[in-house]
Amino acid sequence: MAQSITMPKLGLTMTEGTISKWNKAEGDAVAVGEVLFVVSTDKLTYEYQSEVSGVLLKIEVPENCSIAVGGEVALVGEAGEVVSSRSAPPRTSDGKETSVAPAAVSSAASSAGKKKVVVIGGGPGGYVCAIRLAQLGADVTLVERERVGGTCLNVGCIPTKALVKSAELYGEMKHGADFGVLCSGLRVDWAAVQNRKNAVVEQLVDGVSGLLTANKVAVVSGEAHFLSSSAVEVSGRTIQADAFVIAAGSAPVIPAIPGIESEGIVTSTEALSFAKLPEKLLIVGGGVIGMEFACLYATLGVDVTVVEMMPAILPPADEEMGVIVRKRMEALGVKIHTSCKVTGFDSISSGVMTHVLDSLGRELQFSSDKVLLSIGRRADTAALNLDAAGVKAERGRIAVNKKMETSVRNIYAIGDCCSPIMLAHVASAEGEVAAENIMGASCDMDYKTVPSCVYTLPEMAWVGMTEKAAVETGRKIKVGRFPLIGNGKSLIMNETDGMVKIIADEKYGEILGVHIVGPHATDLIVEGALALRLEATADEIISTVHAHPTVGEALAEATLDLQGRAIHLPPQA
Ligand code: FAD
Repeated sequence: MAQSITMPKLGLTMTEGTISKWNKAEGDAVAVGEVLFVVSTDKLTYEYQSEVSGVLLKIEVPENCSIAVGGEVALVGEAGEVVSSRSAPPRTSDGKETSVAPAAVSSAASSAGKKKVVVIGGGPGGYVCAIRLAQLGADVTLVERERVGGTCLNVGCIPTKALVKSAELYGEMKHGADFGVLCSGLRVDWAAVQNRKNAVVEQLVDGVSGLLTANKVAVVSGEAHFLSSSAVEVSGRTIQADAFVIAAGSAPVIPAIPGIESEGIVTSTEALSFAKLPEKLLIVGGGVIGMEFACLYATLGVDVTVVEMMPAILPPADEEMGVIVRKRMEALGVKIHTSCKVTGFDSISSGVMTHVLDSLGRELQFSSDKVLLSIGRRADTAALNLDAAGVKAERGRIAVNKKMETSVRNIYAIGDCCSPIMLAHVASAEGEVAAENIMGASCDMDYKTVPSCVYTLPEMAWVGMTEKAAVETGRKIKVGRFPLIGNGKSLIMNETDGMVKIIADEKYGEILGVHIVGPHATDLIVEGALALRLEATADEIISTVHAHPTVGEALAEATLDLQGRAIHLPPQA
């Protein structure tokens, strides 16, 4: 006797679901545990695994049609069994009831004729690429082994900045008296800080899931492995496609230092969710991630030490700007040891002892209850079985051209697993380039206008060349500076330890680099990125009226300074 498969209830508020994809056709054999179809609601995408075995006798609800929870979706029985028609008619996506034979609707409304693309990885590279592909008319499947949003939303950009915001607020309230705002009993409730951070992450992850569903991207849970250049395997299921986008992201580098396995040594992922605030934290690596953690924990009252191998923290930043951030971090109490190499770790009763060699060959030791390793990230492609597809990679990093094409036709790669710059907005931009190219356009990725942002307090951001890099090109340059002590809005905010620095070509005045340390630097840098994108000159920035009072006025003033005519600086001798 045929068994009825009904629309499952996948949450308290669900009243109906849409069949976004059938994995089986009428007449196919069905085994228990096999994915029969994919259900989409406005909140989620769900793969329905069969609880019965037999033959799929009748599909009652075709692709892209909806039915109420409990409504009959299909009938499974024995081969040749005669079955009666469905209990209630399904509805098409515009709400109309359909009386068309299911198979016919299925072929008309499904992916027939559409380019089928599989995106591996649902981070800011993968999910943006998937949505753009769907907008361009592709039939898109996104495979994700953990949670959509990837590193960025779950354990990267978003949770760190949520913690930084709590730290910033605490730091400001400690200085409330400077603003005439008095507060007693001020303290940090670490559990509440964690709850807020987690809530921000959940809301954004849910939002991305909703967007994927709304764009009819089928999300498949599991780890993808290439079987060939035209098929991947996910949880025992083979998925074929016309094109693939690898957006597998990155993982922290774990150096081979003696004692590295000692308890208390963590990566950024664990450092986001310490059960309690550490008393002493040692950070290995004074790059962007290391300095953001240093700043946020020091602001919350943790005793923080940073050990960096290079002579300066934040190595890619303009040197002069890095010095300003270093001074601010030291004023906050962060102890920074540059030109120092970690040689080993030991477990001690209070946590970890870190052994360090300084540039003079002296051995230093630091005890702390936690050690954060932040010496960089590496492409995370080991699980993909790239060899089966013939995709070339060097030490895991996939080789791509400016079109984001790999060595294999119709396989693209984007984001941290291949990019020269490991940033979320770069991954997303590369995702859009790959999507356009897959769907027939011819676009190149342009890294010239990619801004870099550091969420210390104060923030730091830059785009284009540093002063040193501009000099090394051999061209004649001019440098304009404006310290924030001369900017009204910065004074209002009590944030005057910062500067805007603009680098321009001497002959043509073309803007080559913009560097900001100060409040809202990470938002203000967009003006610099646009200037570089439009190959703007100093005159064009100067003739753009900047609102008052804003920190943005400092950008105009620094540009005026290129011509020796800043209004709010004393005349140059
Ligand atoms: P990811 O976001 O890493 O996503 C890759 C996804 O692929 C993951 O979800 C993974 O589970 C999945 N995956 C991998 N292999 C498979 C497989 N075989 N099958 C199925 N799924 C797979 N960048 C910024 O721009 N601004 C910031 O402020 C910032 N802050 C950061 C803070 C921290 C602490 C960290 C660690 C990173 C930060 N970054 C920041 C970097 C940013 O998070 C990454 O550049 C960005 O997430 C890269 O995006 P992606 O899509 O390439 O990869």
